[in-house]
Amino acid sequence: MDLKYKRKNVYKEADGNELKQIYDFAEGYKKFLDTSKTERDASETAKKLAEEKGFKPFSFSEKLKAGDKRYFLNRGKNIFLISVGKEDVAKDGVRIMVAHVDSPRLDLKPNPMYEEAGLCYFKTHYYGGIKKYQWTALPLALHGVVMLRGGEKREVCVGEDENDPIFYVTDLLPHLGGEQSQKTLGKAIDGESLNAVIGGLPAVDDEEEKECVKAAVLKLLNKKYGITEIDFQCSELCFVPAGKARDVGFDGALISAYGHDDKVCAYPEMKAVFDYDSPHTVLAVFADKEEVGSDGTTGMQSKVISDVIETIAASFGANPIEVRYNSKCISADVTAGFDPAYSSVFEKRNTTFVSCGAAVSKYTGARGKSGTNDAPAEFMGYLRDIFEENGVIWQTGELGAVDAGGGGTVAKFIGNLGIDTVDVGVPVLSMHAPYELISKADVYSLYKACLAFIK
Ligand code: MN
Ligand code: MN
Repeated sequence: MDLKYKRKNVYKEADGNELKQIYDFAEGYKKFLDTSKTERDASETAKKLAEEKGFKPFSFSEKLKAGDKRYFLNRGKNIFLISVGKEDVAKDGVRIMVAHVDSPRLDLKPNPMYEEAGLCYFKTHYYGGIKKYQWTALPLALHGVVMLRGGEKREVCVGEDENDPIFYVTDLLPHLGGEQSQKTLGKAIDGESLNAVIGGLPAVDDEEEKECVKAAVLKLLNKKYGITEIDFQCSELCFVPAGKARDVGFDGALISAYGHDDKVCAYPEMKAVFDYDSPHTVLAVFADKEEVGSDGTTGMQSKVISDVIETIAASFGANPIEVRYNSKCISADVTAGFDPAYSSVFEKRNTTFVSCGAAVSKYTGARGKSGTNDAPAEFMGYLRDIFEENGVIWQTGELGAVDAGGGGTVAKFIGNLGIDTVDVGVPVLSMHAPYELISKADVYSLYKACLAFIK
């Protein structure tokens, strides 16, 4: 028995067969990412895949039985995948895996459209924790929905097809950026200047029109979607980085993409539910609003998850409180992987490293662990055992050095329900940047961790 603990590198441990599995798994993940940029996109993708796997829509008034596979699409932005097992749900509880599918981005303001200096723009209000300077001068795509009068919904996705136009937030040229470059990073780009160019062609047929470009863009939008300007007030539209997930490095060991946080955890938990017929009752959740505090009907502070668990309990005449207390949860979210370029904010002995496996965080929080779900030692011990039994390579760490900053996940909201919960995710570099970086080895390790958890 090894007396000393040593972190393992997944790639080093893998034989040829497993290496192939890691790379193959990554192909499915990249495909998922490319159709799952927003919470609506991701929930819709999951719904389609679930239907292909024989999942049927869930109803709060139905009586579930062992073997049932259900999905509950909550307002199009949050999805619950339910696989009912043969184990007694009162004693065995529910195996819950939660990952969020919203990612930082630029949302449109309710009155987004204006024209200035011959260009038409959409005004934005950023969503989640972004470094604003990273969102200028890069190709952006527009995703979301617009409600027309009478309840008709128009889906918008422009900028992803290579024949589509993209959208663009300008930055200042360095020649005139002297004053700007004296400012701190956080202040160099003002939130109100994150406005995206959406047009530049004046409507030449109307001499009287003062805002010719805006009028022309509105005409185009009206023709394509039936939209008039007031409809933006009843819409959810956002700019996300345009383009697909790409391999990184000559060996393709890593993937760069928008929104690894937290689809890199959503995908493996979903795949685990699809690939393995668990004897336990399993609930995989794609959550919304994590990046802005998890509030509202589709966030994990909502009562909806309790309602789903109660419905499962009621199906078997079980006490929902007992079901909750016997449930276990993996809060699957990313953590900050060690980045040698910024080593000072990490504490090397207690941080996670890229390619070293699923990242377990016993606690998160900031300033003396404030706002954390601190997983009990007993639950950590349980996880260690099932990971070891199932050959899951995993590591543990904190999100940065003490007092360097910190962060939180949905773990505490599940913990608050009386459910043992721990954060298990994937280390990410450049988290919350338009293109983040992860290792194929780690997303695969998390998949194995999820399989072990529901075995
Ligand atoms: Mn996250
Ligand atoms: Mn995040």
